[in-house]
Amino acid sequence: MNLFLPRIEISLSQIQENARVLSELYMRKGVSLMGVTKAVLGEPSVAKAMIQGGVKLIADSRIENIIRMKNAGISIPFVLLRTPLSQAKSIVENVDISLNTEIGTLKKLSYHAKEQNKCHQVIIMVEMGDLREGVMPCDLSQFIRHTLSLPNIKIIGIGCNLACYGGIIPDNKNMQELSELVYSLEKEFQINLEIISGGNSANHEWFKSSQNVGRVNNIRLGESILLGCETVSRKAIPGLHTGAFQLVAEVIESKKKPSLPFGKIGQDAFGNIPSFQDRGIHQRVIIALGNQDVAPTGLNFNNKLKLLGSSSDHIILDSKCNSIKLGDEIRARLNYGGLLSTMTSPFVRKHFTNCNSYSAI
Ligand SMILES: *Cc1c(COP(=O)(O)O)cnc(C)c1O
Repeated sequence: MNLFLPRIEISLSQIQENARVLSELYMRKGVSLMGVTKAVLGEPSVAKAMIQGGVKLIADSRIENIIRMKNAGISIPFVLLRTPLSQAKSIVENVDISLNTEIGTLKKLSYHAKEQNKCHQVIIMVEMGDLREGVMPCDLSQFIRHTLSLPNIKIIGIGCNLACYGGIIPDNKNMQELSELVYSLEKEFQINLEIISGGNSANHEWFKSSQNVGRVNNIRLGESILLGCETVSRKAIPGLHTGAFQLVAEVIESKKKPSLPFGKIGQDAFGNIPSFQDRGIHQRVIIALGNQDVAPTGLNFNNKLKLLGSSSDHIILDSKCNSIKLGDEIRARLNYGGLLSTMTSPFVRKHFTNCNSYSAI
């Protein structure tokens, strides 16, 4: 069988198993999962694998991805992760729940929800230290009061997001603070907050080690399901598949060459002035893949290959002592950045497999 190159091989059964193992693990402490599909651009078959594995909601940062999944017939509730603004009308039309941090945006959502005779559900995100999205805790009470006054908007919960911008680790302290905010808001406004969404794949260690998860009853997982790891130190989670996505590209040149460029050195393709170490003549290969397809540092070749560099359409590897020929297929695992960029490239074909084995090269 001649398969298209470059391609990303996606094992749906491994994704489903990861989702199942994680759903069962988190459920043991009463925590449900949102499956996050943004790294795969809302690829419907990946979303279906997550749902078959037990996630209760699908969350994505882009409305376009959510519409894509709905058009593919997925009818589970959808959550929009990135706080919206100009797309308010379409969000009310297409999304059940959105995350919010601005009254101006909530007013727009309220306006369109009224127009469409709908009730739009919102989770208010609270700033817990990572300094990406979130209402400052000191402003939260006033924010909730204002939101409660908006017609056709229902606050169904609060949440927070850590370890994305500031690298702040979810721990007992910040998670407890979130729970305390829940209690005080419920008391102050006589409301019931249904969903307390405590974080993302970075919450794994906290979750495993904490006896008491407090009011947290939901976590939004992308990377853990897709790549099988937690994201504070990128350790593999026992029992999960870490190779559900593999990139395959073809060798378009294989030659012995000097390790030191010859001639006068100026700028490279991206305006940097490169420097090199002379390691003599060595065996190098070029694969038909470049920065336009993947962040090259997001590729994980097995230790038979070493990344030397890349330009828009070429990745250059030291093939060490391996005999790799013109036309051979090179396989790499992907980290999150690699997955995100590869899935976004229009040049990389998606190929769904269910095979469980990983063999490099
Ligand atoms: C991307 C994202 C997630 C999922 O993050 P992972 O690290 O992939 O689990 C969760 N919440 C929000 C708000 C996000 O933007």
